[in-house]
Amino acid sequence: MTYRDTLEKIRLAFPQPVSDSIHDSYFVHSIMRALDQVDALKTQLPMLGDVVPGDFKKARETSLPNGTSSVEDVTAQLVEYLRGMTIFGHPRTQQNVIPPPTIPSLIGVLLASLHNPNISWDEYSRLVALAEVEVAAMTSKLIGYDPEVSSGVFTFGGTGTTLYGVKLGLEKACAGTMQKGTPEELVVFVSDAGHYCASNVVGWLGIGTDNLIVIPTTVENEIDLDHLEQQVRSALAEGKKVAAIIATLGTTDSFGLDDLENVAALRDTLSNEFQLDYKPHIHADAVIGWAWSVFNDYEIEKNSLGFRPRTIRALAGACRRIQHLSLADSVGIDFHKTGFAPYISSLVLVKNQADLELVTRQPGQMPYLYHFGDYRPGMFTLETSRAGTGPLAALANFRLFGEEGLRVILGHIVEMTQLLREHLEGQEGTTVLNRDNFGTVTIFRAYPTGVDTFSIKRQEFEDEAYRDSLLSHNNYNREIYEYVHSEAMAGRGVVISITDCYRRTSYGEPIVALKSYILSPFVDEDDVKSVVSKVLEARGKVDWG
Ligand SMILES: *Cc1c(COP(=O)(O)O)cnc(C)c1O
Repeated sequence: MTYRDTLEKIRLAFPQPVSDSIHDSYFVHSIMRALDQVDALKTQLPMLGDVVPGDFKKARETSLPNGTSSVEDVTAQLVEYLRGMTIFGHPRTQQNVIPPPTIPSLIGVLLASLHNPNISWDEYSRLVALAEVEVAAMTSKLIGYDPEVSSGVFTFGGTGTTLYGVKLGLEKACAGTMQKGTPEELVVFVSDAGHYCASNVVGWLGIGTDNLIVIPTTVENEIDLDHLEQQVRSALAEGKKVAAIIATLGTTDSFGLDDLENVAALRDTLSNEFQLDYKPHIHADAVIGWAWSVFNDYEIEKNSLGFRPRTIRALAGACRRIQHLSLADSVGIDFHKTGFAPYISSLVLVKNQADLELVTRQPGQMPYLYHFGDYRPGMFTLETSRAGTGPLAALANFRLFGEEGLRVILGHIVEMTQLLREHLEGQEGTTVLNRDNFGTVTIFRAYPTGVDTFSIKRQEFEDEAYRDSLLSHNNYNREIYEYVHSEAMAGRGVVISITDCYRRTSYGEPIVALKSYILSPFVDEDDVKSVVSKVLEARGKVDWG
């Protein structure tokens, strides 16, 4: 047997380069077999088959097989890796900000993988590069940027979008750091409810985590403007430069929305007052909140989609902040969060495309690429190769949903969230911590029988004399969570999660809380009620053993 026999077999494992309908059927059939096998793992439960712990020790001992395998065998092996996965679209999954992807977005990923466009350059991606430009244009208009002057690229996650924002700000504040490094003392501001990627980004950019100034938040989880002003002022007075102010619009744990309008006004006032020769860059981390822009021009009074009054109020409350997104110099957007696309589909938009020149390389640095063509984002992107999967998935969903579809899906999950809060508030044993919040995450605590849930929240959060009570109820909620979780794994109730530190009390202790994150369009009223009844049941178990 020569290598040629094996080569023939290997060739059959590729889609054929020249039309071959019989082989196409084989390809489609292979995918169908995979889907069938995944389907066979489904039960009524919110996960695929049993949850089995991974043997990571054994995994480290794996080595490359000697011989070849068939497409069929490999498929069956791959499907095994999905065993135990949470079904994020399941109505009984309310775990985190992880959406189920739509069919068109999955087809987008498949197509972009099938022909492997590299959107660093149109020479390698042709019209797939156009998809990136179209999505950037649609999103720009949605958030209120002028698509004539704005620009955007997909990158490696929400973290990547923040990296772009801070990097552009760094170059503005301290020109030439790309060449010379960062000799000067620079600072970046973010709220304490902002995402930890800010810390990562300043670390990796060489600004240093010591120079990330974390501003406290109000009880609504919004950046405290007075503190921000004080801190920016004193940094400037000390002669430091401001690389960026990160405003978070939709914090991860609690959908806090920073007051971007006033953050921008503050930036303008202080720039003038200190006569800065640069304008501190404002990056909006709106990876979660951006989608609410579809309600910016929804006619609340008419309410043609028929949302309930509480829902309408929540949508209007979110738009009060989201409508100002265009005041930011750059914005981070995750389609793999509130856009129902699979990972990774993240877009960073810059208000003024000229900003991107600050990070553009000289052609001489890249002699093998970008000699011609109409679209060469690879001249400035951090990445070299970039997949077409993110843009095609995002484009697919924009086309699928349109503005109306996005309103319906977001409106529905907000409606279900409001309903959950209503039910939780209707119980004496549970209290909602973020009741005035506008998002689809509900943070709540359960208390043992006999505790006055009307006054306890305030006492524990503000009065140090209640420290022991707070800590013991932290543990209480951990126990409630354990029970609810194990029940959910057994197919009873709903998968929710727990946060070890929703906020800190005024005296510095972490507040542990239960968390429901509704992101599946399949969640309905019964599922919401089921959360409440399961928590009450857990309370009975924990209280009485
Ligand atoms: C999820 C999240 C990020 C990080 O985004 P990735 O896509 O996971 O890299 C950043 N900021 C906020 C507010 C987030 O919720």
